[in-house]
Amino acid sequence: MIKLEHVDKQFADHHALNDINVEFPENETTVILGPSGAGKSTLLRSLNLLERPQSGIYQINDEKVDFAKELPTSQILRVRRKTGMVFQSWNLFPHLTILQNITEGPIHVLKQSKEQAEKVAVGLLQQVGLDGTQHRYPSQLSGGQQQRISICRALAMNPEYILFDEPTSALDPELEAQVLHVLLNLAQSKQSMVVVTHNMEFARRVATKIVFVEDGKVEFDGTPSEFFDHPTQRIHDFLNGMQ
Ligand code: ATP
Ligand code: MG
Repeated sequence: MIKLEHVDKQFADHHALNDINVEFPENETTVILGPSGAGKSTLLRSLNLLERPQSGIYQINDEKVDFAKELPTSQILRVRRKTGMVFQSWNLFPHLTILQNITEGPIHVLKQSKEQAEKVAVGLLQQVGLDGTQHRYPSQLSGGQQQRISICRALAMNPEYILFDEPTSALDPELEAQVLHVLLNLAQSKQSMVVVTHNMEFARRVATKIVFVEDGKVEFDGTPSEFFDHPTQRIHDFLNGMQ
């Protein structure tokens, strides 16, 4: 379980997160929705300490972080290992092969043997439908394929949660579908995930929980059916593109 209590993040004169209290259950897919500038990325990035709120409590399983205090580097590293992040634009190392991209973290950070890491990597490539690509370079793959490799890279570190920030918004629809398929499979396998997306149809299919954020506040926290089938007026307007 990831839990945030009274989390606040201020950028200069902008209150990006305003007293956030929310839980992201284990083995579930929580989807974060909200208009542009609402604070979704800031919230997601706080979950792996890429963003550092000024106050509040963050908890991931038995690890507790008090944002008001200075965080030891060892704690930051521990939290980052528990939370893998997949960004909007796949950021693979261009000079490394696909196999090297996936095994780099497991070998250097988790201290796995090269053989062990490569075995895991080949299994992950199969899982995302990309076996046979291990000796290619990122530039030889499509955007959707590269994004699936980024997902393999996150999975290879065996994190407790995987965090996705609009993982398909840089992709054409057909490439998007391949990546969404991988996310749906992960959700079905009960991988704990938090996903920021603007794709409502996908949100409805994949989410076990919806968190709707607006102006840095959690304005809805509940089930997809409550959100989509019994929306408040505000959510109704959002769903109808009135942002
Ligand atoms: P989008 O859907 O457009 O990605 P978002 O919901 O992810 O939006 P955030 O990126 O979390 O929104 O930003 C929330 C607010 O905080 C915005 O008003 C943004 O301008 C501001 N903000 C985000 N990062 C910074 C920063 N590094 N410095 C100053 N302001 C920032
Ligand atoms: Mg964002």
